[in-house]
Amino acid sequence: MSHVMNTYARLPVAFERGEGAWLWDTGGKRYLDALAGIAVCGVGHSHPRLTAVLRDQVGKLIHSSNLYGITLQEDLAHRLAAISGMDSVFFCNSGCEANEAAIKLARYYGHQKGIEAPAIVVMEKAFHGRTIATLSATGSRKVQAGFEPLVAGFVRVPFDDLDAVRRVAESNRNVVAVLVELIQGEGGINVCRADYLTGLREICDAHGWLLMLDEVQSGIGRTGAWFAFQHSAVKPDVMTLAKGLGNGVPIGACLAAGAAAKLFKPGSHGSTFGGNPLACAAALATLAIIEEDGLMTNAVEMGEFLRAAFRARLAGNAGVREIRGAGLMIGIELAQPCNDLVQQALDAGLLVNVTADTVIRLLPPLIFTREQSRLVVDTLAPLILDFLSRQAAPQPAAQTA
Ligand SMILES: *Cc1c(COP(=O)(O)O)cnc(C)c1O
Repeated sequence: MSHVMNTYARLPVAFERGEGAWLWDTGGKRYLDALAGIAVCGVGHSHPRLTAVLRDQVGKLIHSSNLYGITLQEDLAHRLAAISGMDSVFFCNSGCEANEAAIKLARYYGHQKGIEAPAIVVMEKAFHGRTIATLSATGSRKVQAGFEPLVAGFVRVPFDDLDAVRRVAESNRNVVAVLVELIQGEGGINVCRADYLTGLREICDAHGWLLMLDEVQSGIGRTGAWFAFQHSAVKPDVMTLAKGLGNGVPIGACLAAGAAAKLFKPGSHGSTFGGNPLACAAALATLAIIEEDGLMTNAVEMGEFLRAAFRARLAGNAGVREIRGAGLMIGIELAQPCNDLVQQALDAGLLVNVTADTVIRLLPPLIFTREQSRLVVDTLAPLILDFLSRQAAPQPAAQTA
């Protein structure tokens, strides 16, 4: 009997070793990894340069404490500021913690403005984490059910709907911020319209709200820019990162710009492990590899290739609703729940995920090659078509509908 608490519906496989985009299970079977640990291992498994940096750092210093100066943390903050245009960084260990920091920052900001019960606008189908505050910000009853009472101070609106945000602005004087994923990850790779971010920026500016972007999944090169917001001219006030930042060494970050960057004072927030030397060395090496190896350009090219190839292979099938995404953040939405496809792909030696029940999600490492991309399509497209034909078979009437 397992003594691990039963919080995950795990697939019946365990991995022992990885190299690039490949993983080997405990029985020696090889798998192509088109999920990268859910957008974590962007530079792939066992990257030689990252491994060398980590080995060296482990031999020097793993942890000291935020009671003292941490040079690597200063270096990483400097680097993150340079690539994002943000001004200051708080380091933590995960995505939910990064969002906790953002939520605290927004509330602190509100209190400084004399708002006693500050509220944050959040989106339907959003995912911000599993702590009590971040599950309250999350737009999924499944994530929240059983954990009430939820944390107060969140106002929910439909995603990609500027009028809904404007209506909140007219009626709610307590709002201090908007928290949003530009591409909703867990919610189903939902992409917003091109003018959504500019519209949100305008509303936030008009009302003195902080624009806070959760780039925990979309950040660190995944969409073909360091951060998804950089496909536009808009800059956020706050941005959260985690997943891809340390390539698997746990690290999260909450970045702030302008006035928001100077709000927290000693004692406002903290973390024992946050920004320790090992995690910061991992993140610095990960960022260096992504830049030096041109992995953002590769993410754009492989993403375009994958979407085009899937469109070509699945075109005209009524069971396929939409193929969407940006860079290597890709969703294939089917007309029905398709969780079974995950196991079928696993049997075929391919790691993919299904989110929001109907969306096959691909988050391959940024090092993915054309051959690997082709292999994903050659493996997955027939499985999807077969799945759809078997689903449609018992209901012949539905086929003509
Ligand atoms: C994964 C994720 C989180 C939560 O990150 P954890 O490290 O699991 O706490 C938050 N926001 C988004 C957008 C995510 O994809």
